[in-house]
Amino acid sequence: MSIYRLLFFCFATLVVTAGEGAQSTPTTHGTTQENRTTSEEPRITFNSVHVDGPYIAMTFDDGPSATLTPKLLDLLAAHHIKATFFVIGENVADHPDIVARAAREGHEIGNHSWSHPNFAKMSAESVRSQLQRTDDAIKNATGNRPTLMRPPYGSVTEREKRWIHDEFGYRIILWDVDPYDWKRPGPAVVRNRILKETQPGSIVLSHDIHPGTIEAMPSTFDALEAKGFKFVTVSELIRMAVPKASHPSPQLGGNAAASAIPSVSPSSTPSPTQPPSPGR
Ligand SMILES: [Zn+2]
Repeated sequence: MSIYRLLFFCFATLVVTAGEGAQSTPTTHGTTQENRTTSEEPRITFNSVHVDGPYIAMTFDDGPSATLTPKLLDLLAAHHIKATFFVIGENVADHPDIVARAAREGHEIGNHSWSHPNFAKMSAESVRSQLQRTDDAIKNATGNRPTLMRPPYGSVTEREKRWIHDEFGYRIILWDVDPYDWKRPGPAVVRNRILKETQPGSIVLSHDIHPGTIEAMPSTFDALEAKGFKFVTVSELIRMAVPKASHPSPQLGGNAAASAIPSVSPSSTPSPTQPPSPGR
């Protein structure tokens, strides 16, 4: 009897020790990418979204700008395009009315920090303060708290992603199309880069604080529309996500009407059309 008890204790101790060992292992698995997420774990970081249809999300960072953002909002309204703005808290505090207008007109507002620092080089406390102040400023301006965050420069550690998601509930939104408009290459270059790289499910990065970017947008929107792309907010795009097909043989010349309906359910139906070709 007592020998069994002794054995039991030994065994129990071993189990507990092993468990602690496993728990205290640092999370080194996170160094490369969101793609590692297992299927049970909801995905928290997005560069693009796999969708069944020609849907894309235009995103504009670093505003609002007193002059350029209203111009862009006029243009978006004329095209019936919904976009997503990743705003800087300081600018929201200066121009809450512009952010309120953007939200009222159906655009999505995301948190892009208070003063655009590099999160990867900061303490958790500083990052938390940057996010909280901006979250509050957006709530004050629009009545709603954001659900998306884009780290300045796209710079964020795996550990930060995790706790930011846990504490704020944010999804972390990066991008797959970057025209480098902040280098001010001229409107034609910005447009051409976006046209060349944008594919169904793309998240397009731009900045509504550079005049050349705003100048590029009328012809960029025209050209994207001509290719058949449809514009949604980032959260809408994520809601349209479908699992990647295991057999990569899209059929050409299918039923266009069917593909225009966003498929919300994780569909087993084959994608009926080939989405617009990515670039040329
Ligand atoms: Zn930025």
